[in-house]
Amino acid sequence: MTAIKPPLQVENHLKKEASYGCIICGCPVLQYVNIVKQEIGVYLPENMVALCPIHTKKYDNNELHETQLRDAKNRPHNKVHEENAFALSSLDTSINVGKCCFVNTTRILVIDDFDIITIKRNSEKKYILFDVNFFDSLNNLKAVLSENSWYHEGADSNWTIYYEPLHFNMQKSSDSISFDAKIDSKREELTLLAEGFHYNGSIIKITQNEILVDNEEIALDLKGTTVKNYDVGIMFQTT
Ligand SMILES: [Zn+2]
Repeated sequence: MTAIKPPLQVENHLKKEASYGCIICGCPVLQYVNIVKQEIGVYLPENMVALCPIHTKKYDNNELHETQLRDAKNRPHNKVHEENAFALSSLDTSINVGKCCFVNTTRILVIDDFDIITIKRNSEKKYILFDVNFFDSLNNLKAVLSENSWYHEGADSNWTIYYEPLHFNMQKSSDSISFDAKIDSKREELTLLAEGFHYNGSIIKITQNEILVDNEEIALDLKGTTVKNYDVGIMFQTT
């Protein structure tokens, strides 16, 4: 029983019910599964849950039982362990990218007017919602994190998801792609790292210290600064 793509309304219901993290561990990278086998094309929220890829796999391998999913559906990890939820305590959303800090800027990385990384909060301004588009060097969209819903081409095994409270990392080692998001221990800031991102033939890398496009550092004017309420964080044109 692998992950399925339910209609958006069902997806949103399941995400909200789960407080925007896996119901078992709280990881904000989400897939949707039926608790018990369902006819194809039928989406019953009461029979569905939001799980991270690691726990989806465990359920597939019968390492998790139906009763465990039903229990966690009623008492999702992020509700029971609020201290571990992928959330910021401050109403302001502060995000470190390279050595720039963006406060209340949703569109973090925009290349050729296309949003590559967008970070939002849920309606209560609590949980963090990720929109990340993973393109390959030929500009094919290979994987998407869409308000924490995770869809990708190819097998699950192509991607490795690492998660511990307040930190997740997703990697596709065959293409040297990685995305990393970590909330600092005081829970006031989110730090993003990225490697092997592509768009329109350019390759993008975000380290702790710099933002590189085709191995050249960009956004030098913002380096070391904190900017608030910008529409766009890093904007770059490839031509
Ligand atoms: Zn999980």
